[in-house]
Amino acid sequence: MSVTGIVVSPGIAFGKVLHLNFYHEKVDYRLIPTNQLADESKRLKQAFANQKQYLEQSLSKLEADSTHASLIEADLLLLEDEDLISEIDATISKLQVSAAVAIERIFGHQADELAALDDPYLANRAEDVLCLSRRLIARLNGAQHINLSQLQQDTIILAADLTPAEFAMLPLEHIAGIVLNSGGVTSHTAILARNAGIPALLSCQYEPANIANGTEVVLNGVDGELVIAPNKAKIAALSSLKQQDEARKQQLFMLKDLPTQTLDGKPIGLLANVGSLNDISHLADVGAEGIGLFRTEFMLMNTNTLPDEKAQYHFYCDALHLMAGKTFTIRTLDVGADKELPCLASMQEDNPALGLRGIRYSLAHPELFKTQIKAILRAANHGPIRLMFPMINQVEELDALFEHIEQCKAQLIEQEKGFGELSYGIVVETPSAVLNLQSMLPSLDFISIGTNDLTQYTMAADRTNPTLTKQYPSLSPAVLTLVQQTIDIAHQNKVRVSLCGELASDPKIAPLLVGMGIDELSVNLSALLEVKSALRNINYQTCLSQAQHALKLTRIDELTHYINGIN
Ligand code: PEP
Ligand code: MG
Repeated sequence: MSVTGIVVSPGIAFGKVLHLNFYHEKVDYRLIPTNQLADESKRLKQAFANQKQYLEQSLSKLEADSTHASLIEADLLLLEDEDLISEIDATISKLQVSAAVAIERIFGHQADELAALDDPYLANRAEDVLCLSRRLIARLNGAQHINLSQLQQDTIILAADLTPAEFAMLPLEHIAGIVLNSGGVTSHTAILARNAGIPALLSCQYEPANIANGTEVVLNGVDGELVIAPNKAKIAALSSLKQQDEARKQQLFMLKDLPTQTLDGKPIGLLANVGSLNDISHLADVGAEGIGLFRTEFMLMNTNTLPDEKAQYHFYCDALHLMAGKTFTIRTLDVGADKELPCLASMQEDNPALGLRGIRYSLAHPELFKTQIKAILRAANHGPIRLMFPMINQVEELDALFEHIEQCKAQLIEQEKGFGELSYGIVVETPSAVLNLQSMLPSLDFISIGTNDLTQYTMAADRTNPTLTKQYPSLSPAVLTLVQQTIDIAHQNKVRVSLCGELASDPKIAPLLVGMGIDELSVNLSALLEVKSALRNINYQTCLSQAQHALKLTRIDELTHYINGIN
């Protein structure tokens, strides 16, 4: 038996299934009949007791004064708080609601009170309180806690969804593949899986009840299928496919030190998208010329404390050391929407993708922004850094950012700390950034087109919603037109254009982008050599004609068909 899905990270993986139930947190708001209230009260106490026992066991395995241990201790204090339990219990009977609703309500109040405090440590604690409440609700809904650190064999994770923060918690050395019900090529979990080189299938509509934990499966990330309990013939066929896949990787490896240029010698910048120091240490494995996008928020996904200026400064200095003078493009924190950081208190928003995201979050929290900027300015004393800002829509935002940057420089001078000059850019990822580009270019040294969000905001289609991912891909007439418009405006103003969305990582699409005039592509580490191979095997003239032809097509299916038909 097999089910299909979208390949977001290629490769063949053999392994055993483990279901992760991160999303057992649904709350049913219907009123409870009075004769069932006593049972709800019992369930509440049981959930508290089970969670307490689980945390005590985890605590016994940790070093006493580690940060992790102190966080667990803080959660235990809440679980032992008799007044809190009584308040939740009283809410069940007073409002006639389930234990889950009462927990959500009372923990929510606690979190709001903490978030409103001036003390940043306590404000961060608000997120921990909400996290504990989600875990309790998951328990009430029957979720089992799995100790991921004990995974031994090659595991294929199956889950409804996985946030980037949850991905960061996975022991990747034991994970052979990932299969999710949700998400698409440009979702952040897909991007993380690809960068980690873990085969992943998203938007895969398997039925969890039909696949028990421990079932042998093969994730076929070439043809986009999950094969459940394969027979001998299927295993043999997929093993041979895996061998071919590995042989292809070996072949690509030979291109590592060759220049990125078309057959007729047109050079193209080919850089990498990364999210950690570990990724940076792998740049040389694929011969990347530098970093075109460093997603700084990814390195904060599994930490509960925000690094201070000094820690960030050391981090960027380490990165510069590894880069050894190559292009290093840092994007300032791009938090919000699906990228929630456990170390930052975030407000609940009805429409987070349209809310306090990217640069809006930074402008709303200038101290957070300035801490990062000061660390980067100081690091720039030790090597060249290009800095870019996510989700910029209009020139006023840039003005505000540059004002903060000037203040940071003044503070550094006052504190007698040295700093270097930066090159500045923006990620063009909203239609209004394209429309307002002309007014912003005078203050910019470069721009980078973020087609993942540009697609989401042009098509008004949530990039994480599995029902929309096929219908609204980035390769669409609307997005290509905006990309062309961006390139033309930037080039008229002599500003270089990079493209760092997932579109660039597709070896069939990269030549087309070059034909449209893109100067530089920034791609996933795992796709870099495939893209290089595609560019080295095509004439620039062919890139130009592909672009000309593609830009005339008015339908998504025509475009897809055209691209799939190339070679
Ligand atoms: C993009 O939106 O295209 C982009 C590169 O940024 P991210 O995927 O991190 O939102
Ligand atoms: Mg983006």
